[in-house]
Amino acid sequence: MSTNTIKINPFERSDKIAHFKQDVWSIFTPLAQQLKATNLGQGFMDFPPPEFVIEAASDAINNPNYHQYSHPKGRPNLKEALAKSYSPLFNRTLDPDSEILPTAGANEGLFAIFSAFLNPGDEVILIEPFFDQYIVCNHSQANITMNGGVPVFVPLRPQGDTNKIISSKDWKLDMNELRSKFTSKSKIIVFNTPHNPVGKVFSIAEMTEITKLAEEFNLIIISDEVYDRLYYEPHVHERIANLPGAWERTITVGSGGKTFGTTGWRIGWLIGPKTLVGAALSAQTRIVFCVNTPLQEALATSIGAAEKHNYFEKNIEEYTRRREKLMKVLTEIGLPFTIPQGSYFILANTAKVQIPEDYPYPEVIQQRPRDFKVCYWLAREIGVVAIPPSEFYCKENAHLAENLIRLAFCKTDKTLDEAAKNFQKLKQYIKDV
Ligand code: PMP
Repeated sequence: MSTNTIKINPFERSDKIAHFKQDVWSIFTPLAQQLKATNLGQGFMDFPPPEFVIEAASDAINNPNYHQYSHPKGRPNLKEALAKSYSPLFNRTLDPDSEILPTAGANEGLFAIFSAFLNPGDEVILIEPFFDQYIVCNHSQANITMNGGVPVFVPLRPQGDTNKIISSKDWKLDMNELRSKFTSKSKIIVFNTPHNPVGKVFSIAEMTEITKLAEEFNLIIISDEVYDRLYYEPHVHERIANLPGAWERTITVGSGGKTFGTTGWRIGWLIGPKTLVGAALSAQTRIVFCVNTPLQEALATSIGAAEKHNYFEKNIEEYTRRREKLMKVLTEIGLPFTIPQGSYFILANTAKVQIPEDYPYPEVIQQRPRDFKVCYWLAREIGVVAIPPSEFYCKENAHLAENLIRLAFCKTDKTLDEAAKNFQKLKQYIKDV
């Protein structure tokens, strides 16, 4: 073979992934393990799912009929259970066949929608901070860019004195700023309520304005509602798809992992009009072909059982208690924070925390914004792991999060009590500015 036929290095990573750096989870989750620090970082539960959910999984695994491929459209039992549970919440009779699609977690559902609708150069409007690594990977918005899309950002801005305790309601979208982001290339707006990491539950008035803009500029709305069963009195989760003019352009994303404490099952779903769900199915069939069979069946049974056990209401009560526990300790030590109306995260403001200037950081932390440094220091010196939320902003807006840390309270009382104890050590570093 002549050498001039070798033009490419086959081991070079593709442009789609070559720029991915070490993500925030692979820094802080191992750090928590290594230091045996209390992990309020990643949003997974450190308690088991309810017994009726484990039982449903065990029954499904023990059923010899549930071990082969499913139809790419999903298990009829799950689609019917979702239709029954969600039809009243969407104020319409959902067609399980064409308006509901089980996915391999909400994450894959989102990927499938982007894959189904984005062509190179199409713009996707994202509200900052935006959730987790699924969309962002070191500010590169992987799910979107891997599908050729161009992310466009607009931040939620906290109103009032952020050195005091505020509500997630106080985090507002400037609607003129949002309007200024729409162009002839805008195709999708991603919207998330209850919100990770702010905890905001968007009001009908706010969602009406977003819908009007989506209608005026003819955009698809992706409504990420993975925390739809988790909101705190007096707030109620409302669905953008129910607003006048929204249904036809909205695809709602759900997650069994969040609702039932089974993030490892990797089962989510999409709900929307046939045109949108059908396109996502087309893409999904090429991504995973089908979602795993036994856990779709287990989720179907769990949804039915949840209603019988009043699980959704009880779950909110449990999380209300966990939220109170974490808010109490932050209040005691004098760290201001945002009270979440929904989801299971609290953003705390560390502007008053004075960390030693000459603290030795490893290289992965050294080049990152202040919130990475605070989180690293917090893990080592205070024994609590938090997540730096600048990861959920584009590079230009990352400074908006430099004084914030995200704490997850989907944790046992034991973990939260341990965090409370460790947080006492932080008191001496909090100075009024
Ligand atoms: N959207 C949001 C807002 C999330 O917080 C998460 C999980 N952290 C997901 C989507 C992904 O959910 P799943 O685990 O079902 O893929």
